[in-house]
Amino acid sequence: MTSAPCRFSTPARLPAVLIDSAGRIATVHELAVTQSMLNLALEHAERAGAQRITHINLVVGEIASIVDDSVQFYFDFISKDTLAEGAQLSFKRLPARFRCSACGQEFPLRDGNWICPACQRLGGEVISGREFYMESIEVE
Ligand SMILES: [Zn+2]
Repeated sequence: MTSAPCRFSTPARLPAVLIDSAGRIATVHELAVTQSMLNLALEHAERAGAQRITHINLVVGEIASIVDDSVQFYFDFISKDTLAEGAQLSFKRLPARFRCSACGQEFPLRDGNWICPACQRLGGEVISGREFYMESIEVE
């Protein structure tokens, strides 16, 4: 089994998540990123001469509008009859961090709270937490 590092990135700004009447979260966006992720994994696997992709390790920012279950659901569907069929997806969450627009302090998101711990003001820019990328794939 080998591990091939590779990176797949989405644009910094992601559209909002839609929730249907049954409470199921689904977005066209997730289907699109899952498809891109699969394509990239297949490309790497083929280049490595792999028979099968066993694991795909993904990194997801805390506030990226990516729902693990949706990605898994789409993945199972679109990976049929490919080298990646049956591959296990694992999701590593990356914490969100902000920079205060008033004083420049950097701080992590705590309980959904964006208030700056240094100056108590609200608002800032997201430094990290919107990522969604493929960290590595494992093949055999
Ligand atoms: Zn501040």
